[in-house]
This record gives sequence, C-alpha cells and structure tokens, in this order.
Amino acid sequence: MKPKIILTGDRPTGRLHIGHYVGSLSRRVQLQNDPSFDRIFIMIADAQALTDNADNPEKLRQNVLEVTLDYLAAGIDPERVNIFIQSAVPELTELTFYYMNLTTVSRVQRNPTVKTEIQMRNFEANIPLGFFCYPVSQAADITLFHGTVVPVGEDQKPMIELTNEIVRRFNATYGETLYEADILLPDNKACQRLPGTDGKAKMSKSLGNCIYLSDPADIVEQKIKSMYTDPTHLRVSDPGHLEGNAVFTYLDAFCRDEHFLKYWPDYKNLDELKEHYTRGGLGDMKCKMFLCKIMQELLEPIRERRHYWEQRIPEVYEILRRGTEEARRVGQQTISEVREAMRINYLDDSALQDEQARKYSPAE
Ligand code: ATP
Ligand code: MG
Repeated sequence: MKPKIILTGDRPTGRLHIGHYVGSLSRRVQLQNDPSFDRIFIMIADAQALTDNADNPEKLRQNVLEVTLDYLAAGIDPERVNIFIQSAVPELTELTFYYMNLTTVSRVQRNPTVKTEIQMRNFEANIPLGFFCYPVSQAADITLFHGTVVPVGEDQKPMIELTNEIVRRFNATYGETLYEADILLPDNKACQRLPGTDGKAKMSKSLGNCIYLSDPADIVEQKIKSMYTDPTHLRVSDPGHLEGNAVFTYLDAFCRDEHFLKYWPDYKNLDELKEHYTRGGLGDMKCKMFLCKIMQELLEPIRERRHYWEQRIPEVYEILRRGTEEARRVGQQTISEVREAMRINYLDDSALQDEQARKYSPAE
C-alpha cells in the first residue's frame, strides 16, 4: 500500500514570511497531529539555494538557523516532524544524477515556474546548470523519502508534475520502486500564491516585499500601512476595486467572521466590508488597521515561541542533527532499493558475481 509520507521544504535564503505560512507551513503544523500520516519530513533546501546563491554561501549559513527557528516558532513539533538539512544527505545528489537521464532539457525549459525565476534573476543569457536542474533535484528530494503528499504553494505545481513523470518513467524502465506524489494546495485560493505587500504577484524573500513571521509588531504595522491597494481609490468617497488589491487579498487569506465581532463590529463579515469598499465611502487606512489587528493576533504567539527557541540555539542544532541523521538512514535505504532496481548494485549482487565466475570457469 502507498504510504502517507509528507515531504516539504524551504530554501534558507531568508527568514520565512506569511506567504510561506499560508502556502505550506500552517498546513504542516496542522497535519503533524493527524495520525493518518506515517511520517513528516521538512527539508531545509540549502543545496537548492546554492543554485542561485553560489557566490554567497554565508547567506545560507546564517539562514539555516533562521528558517529552523521559524519552523519551531510556527509550532512545528520536532518530536513529530523530521527536520533535516539537504546538503548533509548525499543520497539526494546521487538520486538526482540518475533522474537526469529520465527527463529532457526541453521538458525543464517548459516549466513555467523556472521560466519566471530565470527572468526574475536575469539569468536569460547565462543560466547556471545547477539552477536549471533544480526541478530534477526536487524530484529526488520528494522520492528519496517516498514522499506521497507535498503541501506547497501553487508555484510548486510544475515541480510535482515533473516528479511524477520521472517516477512513472523510472518504474516503467526499472520496475515498480517509487511512488507518485500528490500536491496539497491550500483550500483558500488567496493562500496559494500570496502577493507581496507591493501588490506584485508573489511574496518572495528574493523580492523584498515580505511580512516576516519574525517582524516585530511595529514593523508589521508600518508594512501594512504602506501596502499596495487600489491606485484609483484617491478619495474616501471614490469606489474602490478589489482586483489586485493586496489588502483585500490578505483579508481573504487571514480574516474570519469572528475577527469582525472582535475588532470591527460595524460589519458582519468580509462580504459586507467588500460591498462598502466597492460602493465608495470607505478609506484604505481603516481596512489596513483592521488587517493589522488580525495579523498581530496571528503573529504574536509565533514571535513569543521564536523568542523561547532563540534562547536555546544548541538545542535547535541538536534537533537538526538528529533529523538529518534520520533522513540519511531513510535515504540510504531508498538508494539501495533504487540501485537494485537499476541493476547497478554490482558489489552487493552475489548472484551476478557467481554467474560471471561460472561463465569464465573452465568447462568441467
Ligand atoms: P526564494 O525567493 O528564495 O525562492 P521564496 O520566498 O519563493 O524564496 P521558497 O523557499 O522558494 O520561498 O518556498 C518555500 C515554500 O513556500 C514553497 O512551498 C512555496 O510554494 C511556498 N511559498 C513561497 N512563497 C509563497 C507565497 N507568496 N504564497 C504561497 N506560498 C508560498
Ligand atoms: Mg521560491
């Protein structure tokens, strides 16, 4: 039977933001208490981050800890979830190398997420080969742990599709060994790709348009106050537009009816607020202050838990060390299955050795 194993991860290119939280992290926290899952792995993808940060390893060196602190702050329980460092599991590199033979350059070139990222990084003329291949290494990340459920944001959809293509190709060529994985997108559409505070398509560490889980309360307030809304909404009396209005996308993502009862009883729910905004007569700043209260309610306990773990850095490294050892153990097991299926396990295959010895032994 197909196991239920979660595999997800983040690049240690900066602290985690509220896009990570709604896109994937909150789901991991929720699923860690679901007994129907056999195992949960969270990978800190430092080797992947090197593919576009090769000249700045110091950034990753600092952020491995920051990302781990963000996990613990968000409520990840290290007793239930295996957190590990990608580069410390060399079996991932080995598996990637085999998978490179099971897909093509043109297949990766068609990946829309890679296309956007190449543009964003001005890599058009000179794509580092490692960066180009990272979707293949992601297939290895998922399958080395027999990951079958991958809770991620929408940008990761093409990666899961490629993973499953590679799995099918592997199984058809070498025999049933690997499992296909299902993407688990947030149910709420606004959470699948949360825009940046500048209204740009995606909140992303690399674009500097983030509200970080670790931002202090006054910074959160400042960022929300200067958020992108509707550029045609000049006077309070003007009708406002919701399309592309980041404040309302965040409200879609974070606001629940009880928040109105608590912080803004003039309205019953978000539909009523939207109706007033589009009709005209409602200023942006009032909506922003409401959003701010909702965000602070969410972020305050996260900040507190972070503070707790910040005082216990050696313990945090111990969590990473244990998690990485366990990931290696599982990875070595899968790699030996893979080598056997691919028939490249010469040294462990005594039947092969006997057969070849017989071939050359003098006829009796
Ligand atoms: P970088 O700019 O270095 O690529 P990033 O902010 O895109 O960083 P990743 O580490 O690439 O973050 O993404 C980690 C996970 O968080 C992925 O599952 C991704 O889908 C999810 N994620 C990232 N940004 C968002 C967002 N704005 N909305 C929803 N999910 C997101
Ligand atoms: Mg990214």
